[in-house]
Amino acid sequence: MEVAYSIEYEKVLDPEKAYELFWEGYIKDFRGFTCPEEGCDAQVTLANARRERHSMKQRPNFRCYGDHKNSCNHIKEKKVKCLDILILGDRKQKKKMSKEEAKKKYQSESKSGKRQSEYRTIMPIVNKFIRYEKSNDLESYEILNQGKKLKYSDMFLDLDGQSYDFFTDYNRIYYGTARVVKNAEKDDFILFFSKKLTYKGECYKPTAYISKKIIDNSYKNKLWQKELLSYAEKKQLVKVFIYGKPTVNEIKDKTYLNLQICRAKLDLVDIRRVD
Ligand SMILES: [Zn+2]
Repeated sequence: MEVAYSIEYEKVLDPEKAYELFWEGYIKDFRGFTCPEEGCDAQVTLANARRERHSMKQRPNFRCYGDHKNSCNHIKEKKVKCLDILILGDRKQKKKMSKEEAKKKYQSESKSGKRQSEYRTIMPIVNKFIRYEKSNDLESYEILNQGKKLKYSDMFLDLDGQSYDFFTDYNRIYYGTARVVKNAEKDDFILFFSKKLTYKGECYKPTAYISKKIIDNSYKNKLWQKELLSYAEKKQLVKVFIYGKPTVNEIKDKTYLNLQICRAKLDLVDIRRVD
C-alpha cells in the first residue's frame, strides 16, 4: 500500500514519514495503521519498522492484514503524485482532525494532485533516493528544497570521484563512502571520505566534522554517540549523506574541503553500513 492512516498520529502518511515518526517516538505501535479509504478500517502494519535503520537495503512499507470493506476502493488506488518537502526547524503543531476528516483531506489532495509529504529529517528522503536510484526514477520525482523544486537527481550530489567547477549556494544532500574516526582527545568525530574529488582543478578528499556539541544538539543523541563510536571502532566503511554545503578552508597553508552540516544537527545526516 502506498499510504495508510495512522491511529496515533491521526493523519494519512506514506511509509517513509511513518518510519520517521516511529523512529522519533511519535508513533509507538507499528500495527497502529488502517486503510486510508473513508469508511474502511482494514488493519495495516508498518513492515520493517523495528529493523535497524542503517542498512542500505531495508525499506519500510505498509502491509495490509485486515479485510477491506466491500465498497473499499483502495485496490483501484493508483500511484498518487506527491511532492516531498524538507522542513527545517521545529515540528509544527498539527491540526486536530477526526479520522474521517483526515481521510477525506487525503482523498481530495490526491485527486487534485496537491498531495505533499513533509519530512523533518533526511532519513526518509535517503530511503526514497535509494529506491528511485534502483528503479532508475531519479529524474521523475521532485522535492521542495528551500522553496525550490528540484529533481531527486539534482538534490543528491555524489562526492565519490567526481569533478565540480562550482558548488551551489543552496543546501543539497552530498553523499559518499567514508570512514568514521574518533578524535583522540575529545568526544568529536571526523568523517573521512574515501575518494578524491576535484573542485576547480584542485584535488581534495572531503571531510566532515561532527563535534560533541553537534551530537548533543541532535535528537536521540545517546544513540548517535553509540553508533558513531561503533563505526569508529570497527573501522567500517559507511555511506554518509549530509544535508549542507561544502566549504574550502585553509589551515596552515593547506586547503581542505569540508562539508558543513546544515543547522549543525544530525537530523540532517544519515549514515548507513555498506553491506
Ligand atoms: Zn480499505
